[in-house]
Amino acid sequence: MLDLTIIGAGPAGMTAALYALRSGLSVAIIEQGAPGGQLLKTEKIENYPGFVDGVLGMDLATNMFMQINAFENFKLINDTAKKISKNADNFTVNISIGTVDSKAVIVATGGYPKTLDIPGEKQFAGKGVSYCAICDGFFFKNKVVAVIGGGNTALEDAIYLASIAKEVYLIHRRNTFRGSQILVDKLKSYNNVHLVLEKVPVEIKGDTKVSEILVKDLKTNEITSMFVNGVFLAIGQIMNSEFVKDSLDTDGLGHIVVNEKMASVTSGIFACGDIITKNLRQVSTAVGDGAIAGQMAYEYISQL
Ligand code: NAP
Repeated sequence: MLDLTIIGAGPAGMTAALYALRSGLSVAIIEQGAPGGQLLKTEKIENYPGFVDGVLGMDLATNMFMQINAFENFKLINDTAKKISKNADNFTVNISIGTVDSKAVIVATGGYPKTLDIPGEKQFAGKGVSYCAICDGFFFKNKVVAVIGGGNTALEDAIYLASIAKEVYLIHRRNTFRGSQILVDKLKSYNNVHLVLEKVPVEIKGDTKVSEILVKDLKTNEITSMFVNGVFLAIGQIMNSEFVKDSLDTDGLGHIVVNEKMASVTSGIFACGDIITKNLRQVSTAVGDGAIAGQMAYEYISQL
C-alpha cells in the first residue's frame, strides 16, 4: 500500500508531493490533465518570488514535475478521483480504472472556469468562445476579442491578448477591478485595450464562429452590439470539491475547510491550494499550503 495519495498536480499538489517524497514516503498523484494545473493557463507569473523577470507558467510547471518525477517512490496516475472512503486504518480513492489505497490523502484539486450561461456560450465553445487565453489566444492573431471579468485572470488574459489581437475589449460589470492595481495599470498602457465597464454580456452570436456579442449597460439597461471574433471568459472558478462534499466540510463556495495544518475534519485527509478556504489564491500561497500539507501528512503517517 502507498503512504500518500495526492489528488491534483497543480503547484499545491506537486509541492506537497515534494515534501512527502523528501521525507521518504511513497506518493501517487492522481491528475486528470497534464501536471501544472492553472500554471499551464498562465503565460508569465510576475509575482512568484525569486524570478526578477517573471517565469513562464509552463516552465514552472515542467520544473516542478521534473523535481518530483525524479524520485523512485513517485508515480503519476492519469485519471479522475471519484470518491475517498475511510477504511479502518487507511483510505481508498476510487478512480475510473479501479482504486488507490494509501495511509493518508491530500486533496489539491483547485477549480475550473465558471460559465456565464448566456445564449450562444455553449454553442460557440471552441468556435470563438474560450476559457483559456494562453491556450487559444494564438487563434486570434490580429483579430478583435472580448475578455469578460475584472479579476486577476481577466486582467492577465487581456494583457496577454493585447500583444496578439488587434483590439481587446475588457468587459467588466463594475467600474473598479477585483484584480491587482499593478495589472490594471499595465493593461491601461496598451493602446489597443478598451475598457467596457458596468456592462455585462447577454448573448454571443455568429454563424459558424463568433462574430458578435450583445452587452447590456447596467445603468441604462440599453443593449448594444459589439463585433468580435473571440470571447474569453474569466469570471472566476468553481471548486473541484463535489467528490468530497459528503465526507469533508466545505463552505458555501465549495472550498474545503482546513486548519493551520491543512488538516480537514477527517483525520488523515489534508487539503491545500485554491481548493481550501483562504484569502489569497496565488502560486506562492499554493506552494506554501502544499509544503505544510506534505509535511503534516508525513507526521500523521509517522504516528500511525
Ligand atoms: P475572481 O477573482 O473571482 O474574479 C472573477 C471576476 O469575474 C470578478 O471581477 C467578477 O466581478 C466577475 N464575474 C463573476 N461572475 C460574473 C458574471 N456572472 N458576470 C460578469 N462578471 C462576473 O476570479 P479569477 O480572476 O479567476 O481569480 C481567481 C483567484 O485566482 C483569485 O484569488 C485571483 O487573485 C487568483 N489569481 C491570481 C493571479 C496572479 O496573482 N497572478 C492570476 C490569476 C488568478 P466582481 O468583481 O464584480 O465580482
